[in-house]
Amino acid sequence: MVIRGIEVLQKYKSELFDLINEFEYKEYKNTDWLTKWTLIIQEVFNMKGVTFYLRKEKIFKEMRPLHSNKEKTVTLQEVMELFPDDSLINTENLDKYSQFSSFSQVILLRSMTNEPIALLCFKERWEAIGEINLSNFVAEFCHSSSGLMNKLLTITEIIEEEERYRELFKVTETFHSSMEVDTLLDEIITTLHKVFPSYSSKLLLSNDHQHYADVRIQNFNFDTATSAAMESFVNGVIQVESNLNSGNTVFYAPLRGKQGIYGVMQVSSQHEKLFQKKEIEFIKLLAYTAGSALENAKLYQQSKQLISDLQLINETSHRLNLNLRLSETLAFLNTQIQKSFKTSDIGFVFLKDSKERFKILPGSSDLFRTGNGIEYIHLVEARMSKGNDPLFIGDLKGKYGQSNLVFRSIMAVPMVQHSEMIGFCLVLHQEPYFFSYDMFKLLQSFIHHSTLALTNSMLREKLEEMVITDYLTQLYSRYHLDEFIERSIREDTRGVLLLIDIDDFKHVNDTYGHHIGDKVLIQVAKLLKETVTGKGLGARWGGEEMAVYFPQSRINDVIQIAQDIVEEASRKTQPPITVSCGLAGWDCGHPVSSMNLFMQADEALYEAKREGKNQVIIRG
Ligand code: GH3
Ligand code: MG
Ligand code: MG
Repeated sequence: MVIRGIEVLQKYKSELFDLINEFEYKEYKNTDWLTKWTLIIQEVFNMKGVTFYLRKEKIFKEMRPLHSNKEKTVTLQEVMELFPDDSLINTENLDKYSQFSSFSQVILLRSMTNEPIALLCFKERWEAIGEINLSNFVAEFCHSSSGLMNKLLTITEIIEEEERYRELFKVTETFHSSMEVDTLLDEIITTLHKVFPSYSSKLLLSNDHQHYADVRIQNFNFDTATSAAMESFVNGVIQVESNLNSGNTVFYAPLRGKQGIYGVMQVSSQHEKLFQKKEIEFIKLLAYTAGSALENAKLYQQSKQLISDLQLINETSHRLNLNLRLSETLAFLNTQIQKSFKTSDIGFVFLKDSKERFKILPGSSDLFRTGNGIEYIHLVEARMSKGNDPLFIGDLKGKYGQSNLVFRSIMAVPMVQHSEMIGFCLVLHQEPYFFSYDMFKLLQSFIHHSTLALTNSMLREKLEEMVITDYLTQLYSRYHLDEFIERSIREDTRGVLLLIDIDDFKHVNDTYGHHIGDKVLIQVAKLLKETVTGKGLGARWGGEEMAVYFPQSRINDVIQIAQDIVEEASRKTQPPITVSCGLAGWDCGHPVSSMNLFMQADEALYEAKREGKNQVIIRG
């Protein structure tokens, strides 16, 4: 091939000049400019078979015609070895780099700072010379070509930069229009990936304890974080870390808002390449924008949560003021807690002075009636006995010598009345770090508001029980029996009333004292309970008289029971006493009033006394 000298070079330069002038932005992406450049070389120098290798980081990639799938590469290291000083090499002696064997010559282009940037491989040789010698000619060719290459690279960089900022602008708009933390995080990581496709990016977030589907969004792990990550997170500063072993460089930018740092943006390059200043600027800007958008979204969500918490507490207080029964109060609390904390493992425990140290209240989940649940109650009890402090543990594993715990997250809040702990509420979840601190505060508020209502319900129910129970004998009271009989007469078809009176009881009192008299009363009551439970309702009628009402029974069904009582009385009492019984019944054919029924039974009893006591008399 004959080189026609200077004018050819002039032509080449002017063609390159035109190429730059006509260069369009869109060309840079699909490398149209490369095709055009190749054509220029082919036309101007009449050289066929020109192939470009362009440098990307530490690799030179062969630029093939479209859709070629196997592109060849050569490393920067290899290129440096190939071109120790010259710009042109002949390939005939290169056995090591066989990929160049189909070419006869390769030219290296360098940047203005003398960095290798591209290779031009020729099938044909540059040979004869017109008026200038080959090396001058090649030097001139390289000079012009490098000039073009540098300009193109500069333009490319500007375009890339512009695209990045366009992306940032776009994303900033989205950031500030989104109040959803999850959407926002997704936007941030997607932008990072789009802008720096060759780097791997991650978001490390603080105190979220949430699991993200996207593996690029993680919780900041204080145990495994590198010192640079930690420094960036704690002090809110940019950090760059080069790992000599793995050969990569990691860049950390804090996601900071006005009120705090919400995490760290982590960008890593596979090569030990330093991040360019403008890349750092960009990441900084993105991190800052993302940080303040994240803060806004979080504050918004927090305030929304706060409003809903307050509504919940308000609703709860309102319901608790309705004087519900204990079981209703607890069932209601259970529902509210389930709704707020997304867990159904809720326990309400009352502490007792007696030998069973605690009582599991209704409204607690079944778990707490099993050994497994009790274990957690013991744990909370032990911890709380050291003070009335509430308990908030993110991960129980390995703590307090517990190893095989099914539930890892625990919250427990004491119920305090008159500065004394009367019980506690505990809430569990199997996942560690399931509850947030806000949830913990809400639980405290719940329990604080409901403790008084709970103790009131308990006291009320105890009082009710006391009203219907006779203190000495623990039989029902006469008042309760009255109501029971009246309801039975209204609703049933028949019934029998049995009155029992201790014979010569005055004598027992006079002989042994009231104290012994009381004991005898208790013994008779016990006998009564043993005999009639499940068949009738026994009550203390007054003094040393007792009564049993048998709903839906005939006199014949009850005679034997009454006789058994008379027979057993002397055997089951100390000092032994006897009793007299009066029986009266009713049915639909002979309706009565309760008063009437009492009178009839009383008459029968009176007759039994008159007939010599220690016997049963039937009336009606
Ligand atoms: P009768 O065989 O006719 O029933 O003779 P009585 O002595 O059992 O009958 P009376 O009605 O004369 O006496 C009842 C006595 O029961 C009088 C009272 O002191 C005694 N009494 C009533 N309630 C109690 C009580 O709660 N404890 C004791 N220890 N005695 C009581
Ligand atoms: Mg009496
Ligand atoms: Mg008596």
